[in-house]
Amino acid sequence: MGAPRATSTRAPALVLKPGRERSLVRRHPWVFSGAVERVEGAPGLGDTVAVRAAAGSFLAWAAYSPHSQIRARVWSFSEAESIDAGFFNARIRAAVERRAGLAGVTDAVRLVHGEADGLPGVVCDRYAALAVLQLSSAGAERWRDVIVDAVIDAGGCRTAYERSDLEVRELEGLTSRTGPLRGTPPDLATITERGIHYRVDFARGQKTGFYLDQRANRSRIRALAAGREVLNAFCYSGGFSLAALAGEARSVLSIDSSAAALELAHENLTLNGIDATRAEWREADVFQSLRELRNAGRGFDLIVLDPPKFAPTAAHAERAARAYKDINLLALKLLRPGGLLATFSCSGGVSAELFQKIVAAAAADAGVDATIGDRFYADADHPVSLSFPEGEYLKGLLLEKR
Ligand code: SAH
Repeated sequence: MGAPRATSTRAPALVLKPGRERSLVRRHPWVFSGAVERVEGAPGLGDTVAVRAAAGSFLAWAAYSPHSQIRARVWSFSEAESIDAGFFNARIRAAVERRAGLAGVTDAVRLVHGEADGLPGVVCDRYAALAVLQLSSAGAERWRDVIVDAVIDAGGCRTAYERSDLEVRELEGLTSRTGPLRGTPPDLATITERGIHYRVDFARGQKTGFYLDQRANRSRIRALAAGREVLNAFCYSGGFSLAALAGEARSVLSIDSSAAALELAHENLTLNGIDATRAEWREADVFQSLRELRNAGRGFDLIVLDPPKFAPTAAHAERAARAYKDINLLALKLLRPGGLLATFSCSGGVSAELFQKIVAAAAADAGVDATIGDRFYADADHPVSLSFPEGEYLKGLLLEKR
């Protein structure tokens, strides 16, 4: 892999249409295809290009994605910076150091979170001694080997595994790739978060295997669970279920449609030596189950609703809104007076404001009064950059039913 050329005068360049430099001046890291006036030189997939304003001034070094609507993703806004192995080492080391504060809490941390860490298309999650990488852009792919070495080096991991199987790779002209990258990873990883052990199926599970973004919110549910009858809908491998059980919930009913996820959740229960009689697992469709529970006259004191991404983009927002409204309406009905609903959306296409409106409409239709006790976000290892608000995807509300 040859290093990209050092000087901006000789490097291939994207020259923008007049006025289209504005978002880059505000340090937004994406260049959309419609903003590009012309390509100078013959950059290949993932190559570093200089991005220039129509008048010729330097704006950024970026990775070229010829097939994507996002035609380039910015590595650096500094002309003096060389995009080379040293650059990736420094960015990854800084990202890892930013997470040092979580070391006392868990051995599972998102070490690199894409744009917010100045590394578009690069995600790396650490599960104990294993690093799981998810590369989703042409630029990330171009520097793959350098990135893996840097993560192993800075993160102190022994083995690495790749989960570059996101659909967006297709838009980048990349095919999906999964498998071991360094060493021989175990079949499942085992992590410990605030004393709770979880097995993580990094090779086959959702995302890179575990919802690290919900860490602080799991802790919150644990603190609220004592003595309560809990319902955890869309439980996956039992993250919130285990937290509630560790927090002395009276009982936890967990629902998910995935048999594999429930199997892992059950294993997690055993792993922690938790009394299995307090936990009930149901392999079912949540939409249908909530109706059945309501028809059976069941009631709960704490409900967690953390569904999959119904709206990946704003284009899906309307259909997603109906789905969110439906489950929140049913959950509010299932809640006893004084009960708590922790309701989430991880849809990038649904803003926090819109989500609150949807939940308010659900409460109105259910004839329920509720107050907002708190707002939830992704934990600190999933930072949001001020110049890249699109990166904020997880939002939630803690509601108390009157
Ligand atoms: N709350 C989980 C993450 C949820 S991910 C955690 O904190 O770990 C979304 C989960 O919803 C997945 O496990 C998926 O299997 C499940 N799912 C998706 N659609 C479903 C449906 N209609 N009914 C039940 N489960 C569903």
